[in-house]
Amino acid sequence: MVQHVKLARERRKRKSRIKALIFFVALLCLVTGGVLTLKNTAEHTQFTAIDGTHDSQYQALTPTSSEQEATSYDDELLGQDDEVDQVDLNEYDKLPEEAQNAVDDLLAAADQAKRISDQFSYTVVRGDKLKDVLEMSGLEDETSQILIASYPELKNLKAGQQIYWMLDNQNELEYLNWLVSEKEERIYELKEKGKFARQIIEKKSIWKKDVLKGKIEGSLRASLHKLGLDNRQINQLSTALQWQVNISKLAKGDNFAVLVTREYLEDKLTGQGNVDAIHITHNGTSYYAIQADNGRYYNRQGETIGKGFARTPLQRQARISSPFNPARRHPVTGRVRPHKGVDFAVPIGTPVILPADGVVEKVAYQAGGAGRYIVVRHSRVYQTVYMHLSKPLVKAGQSLKRGERIALSGNTGISTGAHLHYEFHINGRAVNPMTVKLPGTNSGMADKERKNFLVKAKSAERLLSLKN
Ligand SMILES: [Zn+2]
Repeated sequence: MVQHVKLARERRKRKSRIKALIFFVALLCLVTGGVLTLKNTAEHTQFTAIDGTHDSQYQALTPTSSEQEATSYDDELLGQDDEVDQVDLNEYDKLPEEAQNAVDDLLAAADQAKRISDQFSYTVVRGDKLKDVLEMSGLEDETSQILIASYPELKNLKAGQQIYWMLDNQNELEYLNWLVSEKEERIYELKEKGKFARQIIEKKSIWKKDVLKGKIEGSLRASLHKLGLDNRQINQLSTALQWQVNISKLAKGDNFAVLVTREYLEDKLTGQGNVDAIHITHNGTSYYAIQADNGRYYNRQGETIGKGFARTPLQRQARISSPFNPARRHPVTGRVRPHKGVDFAVPIGTPVILPADGVVEKVAYQAGGAGRYIVVRHSRVYQTVYMHLSKPLVKAGQSLKRGERIALSGNTGISTGAHLHYEFHINGRAVNPMTVKLPGTNSGMADKERKNFLVKAKSAERLLSLKN
C-alpha cells in the first residue's frame, strides 16, 4: 500500500517533468518560428550580398547602348509613401499557411498537454479492486467507496478491462471511463461533491450529415469555431472562399450554413468529422465552397481559385524592357538594385488587368520611387504589385475578379520611360512573374469527377438553403 502511494507520487513527479518539457519545446518552437519569420523579412528587404558573377549574365541581357530602356531603378516599396490608401487584412489571415498551421498545432498540443497531466489510464490485472486502481493517482479509498455504494458493478473489475480517469483542479476524481467490453463502456462523472452520474454507452458509432447554421459575429473564423469546426477545417474553408469573397468584409449578421459529416457514439460527437460544404450570403450574393471527391473545395460551378492566374496583367503581349533580376546593378552607381519584378514597355494609359481574383490591399503614391502603385492580395499566400501607374481605378478593400481593370499604366515616380512594373509575391517574397508556377491552373477536375461534383453541389445547395 505504502509502495502504491510512493509509485503514484513518482508518477506525478514524472508527469510534471514531462509537462515542463512540453512547455519548453512549445516555447522553443515559437521562438524558432519568430526568428525564421524575421529572417525571411530580412532576406526580402536586403538582397544586397550577391557576388559579382551574375553581373556578366546581366550585361548579356541588357542592351549596352546608351539609349535608356523604359525601366526604373527605384521601384522598391521600402521608401516612404506620399499618399496611401490601405486596408489591413486580418493579421492572422496574413500569416503564411504553414505558420498558421504551426501555431494551430502548437495551441492544440499545449491544450492536450494540459489535459494529459491529470489523466490516467490503467489496464486491470487479476485481483485489482477499484481502490487499487484509483490509488495510482493518489486518490483515497473514500472515492471508490462512494462510487461502489451507488454503482455496485464496480466491485467486479475483470482482468484486461481498461479504465481511464481524470482528476479536477482539486485532485478529486472528475471523470471515470470503464471500458467493460469492446461493445460497452460506462462513464461516471462527478456531478456534485460525493455524487457521480453514470452513463452506459453501447459502442456503435454512426456517421451523420448535419447542417449547422449561424450568423457572422466577429470574424468568420470565430463564428465557425463557435460551431465546433477545428482550425484545419476553418483554414480549408477560408482558402476556398477567399477567391470569391473578401472574407474580412463579411459583416455581422451575414448568414451562413455548413454541411458536416460527423461521427456519433450514441448521441455524443466523437470529434471526428468532415466539412462537406459551406454557404455564405453577403450583400445578397451567395458564396459556396463545396468539397469534391478529391478533397479540394470548389465553388458551385466546380471552379477553384477563380480560373487561375493569367501570366501577365495585360490584354496583349508586351515587350519586356527589363526582366526580373535580383542581381541587377544600377548603370550609374554600379550598386546592386535588385529588380523584383518585370517591366513591360507599354504606352501610358494601357489598361492593367487583374490576373486573378483578389482584394486590393493598397493604393499609394511614392514620388521618389514606385510612383502610383497598387498591391493586390489573392490569398493568404499570393500578392501582386503594379507600379508607375498613371491612374488607379480601384480603392483599397475592393474585391475584384480576374480580368477587371485596376489601373492605367503610366510613367510616375522615378522611371526612365513609360512602362508597367509588375511583381508577383509568394508569402511576401518576390519571384519571377514570367517563370513562376502559376497557382490554380491545374486544379480542374476530370469530366467524370466533375459530373459527380455537380450532383454533390446541387444537393449541398438544397441542404444549405438560407431562405427563411
Ligand atoms: Zn521595374
